[in-house]
Amino acid sequence: MLWTHTFIPTLKETPADAEIISHQLLLRAGLIRKLTGGLYTFLPLGLRVLRKIETIVREEMNRAGALEVLMPALQPPEIWQKSGRYESARDVFFKARDRAKKEWILGPTHEEVITTLVANEISSYRQLPRNFYQIQTKFRDEIRPRFGLMRAKEFIMKDAYSFDASDEAAQASYQKMYDAYVRIFQRCGLKAMPVEADTGVMGGKFSHEFMVPAETGESEVAYCETGDYAANVEKAISRLPSAEPPAAEQNSRITQHASLPEKFATPGVLTIDALTKAPYNVPAEQQIKTLVYLVESKIVLILMRGDHQLNEAKLTGTLGTGNFRAATEEEIFSALGAHPGSLGAVSVTKFRVYADEMLRGGRGMTTGANEDGFHLRNVSVERDISVAKWAELRLVTAGEPCPACGQPLKIRRAIEVGHVFKLGAKYSEALEALFLDEAGKQQPAIMGCYGIGVTRTMQAVIEQCQDKDGIIWPISVAPFTVCITPLNINPGNPLILLAEKLYQELLSRGVDVILDNRDERPGVKFKDSELIGFPIRVGIGEKSLARGEVEIKRRGGVLIPIKAEEAVGKVLELLKQ
Ligand code: ATP
Ligand code: MG
Repeated sequence: MLWTHTFIPTLKETPADAEIISHQLLLRAGLIRKLTGGLYTFLPLGLRVLRKIETIVREEMNRAGALEVLMPALQPPEIWQKSGRYESARDVFFKARDRAKKEWILGPTHEEVITTLVANEISSYRQLPRNFYQIQTKFRDEIRPRFGLMRAKEFIMKDAYSFDASDEAAQASYQKMYDAYVRIFQRCGLKAMPVEADTGVMGGKFSHEFMVPAETGESEVAYCETGDYAANVEKAISRLPSAEPPAAEQNSRITQHASLPEKFATPGVLTIDALTKAPYNVPAEQQIKTLVYLVESKIVLILMRGDHQLNEAKLTGTLGTGNFRAATEEEIFSALGAHPGSLGAVSVTKFRVYADEMLRGGRGMTTGANEDGFHLRNVSVERDISVAKWAELRLVTAGEPCPACGQPLKIRRAIEVGHVFKLGAKYSEALEALFLDEAGKQQPAIMGCYGIGVTRTMQAVIEQCQDKDGIIWPISVAPFTVCITPLNINPGNPLILLAEKLYQELLSRGVDVILDNRDERPGVKFKDSELIGFPIRVGIGEKSLARGEVEIKRRGGVLIPIKAEEAVGKVLELLKQ
């Protein structure tokens, strides 16, 4: 490609509305342009990168035995009603209406469509296993579209769906996709780590996310440096003892005398922290935090140890619904007769109480008395509170022991680029994707679903591979792998003549090469090629050519002077590395 024949509008200034480096570089390097928030046009160079990532994804999906299809982006709401997700997913839908005012959904994902297809086409175990995938545009009405391609309203996803006749076979399909994902991200030059993930409202059973560590990531991962444990914090657990809070015996003086909860005045004390101070001196781990939520419009109490935080993703899993919110002060007062700061669950029978596992066995604890300005001490959780359900509800924090080996866990931010789920029979049952097994019995197919954010992956590569001068594309996904930069482009000049010769030779070897034939100063040319991040630059200047040499430079590396006639060989050698 000749530079002057393509369209590469690089920018010197950093666009004001791009907060993170990868978004800035996408714009500055002339890869994308914004139409409006969350909607982008891929310019020629950006599209080349996108197509290369898609090719890697496609090759690995095919290699894993998945079959490419292309489903409609426009979906009828009826299939979402049938699967039971019409209500729970409605917030993310972009909707359209036809001329008869009938509603349609711009697909945010395709479980319903593919399961409907399989329901119609597959009827026997002999037709299984099957795995169908597509690379297609998805639409999601995100609460906060931001960071360019990272969280867009419209983005490209590779989504795959496996159908198996048994649990073991489904596990094997899952493993194949997991392995393919490891290869895909490696081939894209990305360091992505698989972590255990929450299944949320997808209703799955088992899941991993592929995470690219980055400060700007919107996810958090808890991991152990030994490498034996990594999980999204939404899912992460630690090895803290679940029975008896460590300080359970601290109130022993009281425990010895009275065994029943005892009310005491705590005027003005509204926080866990305030109660840890004199004259009360109740350590946070000795307190019970009472949270009041409205779950599908019903009041529910959630109890955590005073020093622990509620993890709403785990709450979603425990409740089996994401339809909940924290109650307002008024709702709390009308339910419990007290304001936040004095709340508790002792003797509460009107409302369902969920307690975090870490409170199990807790004795000598302190909690609000449901009377403003009063608390209760000497509370034994299991004796004094009627807990409807014990559950793992706690957010793990850095430093807690790894569940596998006991080493302190670390927490870091990361970008989710891919997600694999074992779904079970939820969708196949609802949408009747049934088959006759060997014994002639009708069964629902066991499903898995697997997503890669193709456009997000493109930006994640930039987030991970850049320096102060610009992008450092891995060879596998670079828009062009080689940029030839002659410093004089006047027709007939030896510099441009050599440049054209090298260009033709590299083209004939199948190299993705661009020739910077712009009439620009050397500084501009070099800056642009660093900014865009072509992996290899072949510089042709007067001084070196006088010695019969050109200068080859790997992006981020040093200049290598080399005889002009050896240049093609050297470039080919570097491209192999
Ligand atoms: P997130 O937690 O980031 O919102 P998700 O869990 O909703 O993502 P999935 O439904 O698992 O996403 O979609 C599969 C992949 O699609 C994600 O791993 C991510 O790479 C990508 N993706 C999801 N939402 C967006 C978006 N709004 N913009 C760009 N890529 C996205
Ligand atoms: Mg996800």
